[in-house]
Amino acid sequence: MIQFSHPEPEPSTTTIWPVFLPFAGCPYRCLYCAQDKQTGRGEAQLEALFRDMQNDLTQALEQGRGPYELAFYGGTFTALPRPWQERFLELADRFRQAGLVTRVRCSTRPDCVDADGLAALRERGLDLVELGIQSFDDGALRASSRGYDGRTARRACGLVKASGMGLGVQLLPGLPGDDRGLFRADVDVAAAFAPETARLYPCLVIRGTGLATLWERGEYEPWPLARAKEELAEALPVFWEKGSRVIRLGLAPEGTLAENILAGPWHPALGQSVRGLALLAIVRGQVAKLDGPVTGFEVPRRYQGELFGHAGELVDDYAAAGIRKETVRYVDRERFRLTTQ
Ligand code: SF4
Repeated sequence: MIQFSHPEPEPSTTTIWPVFLPFAGCPYRCLYCAQDKQTGRGEAQLEALFRDMQNDLTQALEQGRGPYELAFYGGTFTALPRPWQERFLELADRFRQAGLVTRVRCSTRPDCVDADGLAALRERGLDLVELGIQSFDDGALRASSRGYDGRTARRACGLVKASGMGLGVQLLPGLPGDDRGLFRADVDVAAAFAPETARLYPCLVIRGTGLATLWERGEYEPWPLARAKEELAEALPVFWEKGSRVIRLGLAPEGTLAENILAGPWHPALGQSVRGLALLAIVRGQVAKLDGPVTGFEVPRRYQGELFGHAGELVDDYAAAGIRKETVRYVDRERFRLTTQ
């Protein structure tokens, strides 16, 4: 008999309250980016977004909702004019003092952070910085016109860690300039910083982006879905081992995104498929240690939805490992248990 735990760190229990600031502070539009489609909002009008945030949070407070982790997403927060950064953080702080907000995070680019700026933001109540790293590879960054190199990306991760705030990393595998093994190398570099969170978004071709033009000309080919699943599944344990939570696999079907995807590895159940594959690899590793055929497999109930993958796509793989559906029992314990005769 073998017992084992799932290596994934405990999920966060706080609810994110996103404040989308589409393209706000962005020095230019990146080749693949379609924040307007993802968020369903046009370019940020900061005054209007500020008022909306104030009204919505006031309403939530009056209704006794929360608490929330406030997240400024969709743009380059640290490149906003300084007075705007301060206004947004001061407003967040007012709601923190009222008990509605427990933490504040923002997303930004690696070439838009410096030690003094991060220290000032921390002072004003920022708790976590998510860096849109995309890749640490100079070639992929150049081919995608990101405007910085791998050294800048690594330096930014180090600066956020040194600031005492939490670090979040976002990787975008399958960019132009991608090569076999490149994503795995990026994952290793990112995980070495032991970020608090990671988001992995396989590159998609979205209508209206520069990448769509390249794709239409036949100059860019996105990853097939099968490759995205396989590579993401291999990345998960690397982050888990460092205690990093992978909080997103693939873009969420928000706004008008789904109808604007022209090509690329997108599926509404991508996360479930990837997590299922990662779990399959863990189970196979444990089965290999047994000295007889599997007669019973107890699985913590919370993994019921992903054990056999999306729509049972892994049933045959489990059967090949000697685990049939009838062998499995879902239990209210935290550890998996494999038994032989
Ligand atoms: S990818 Fe990030 S930095 Fe580039 S345009 Fe989009 S939000 Fe701005």
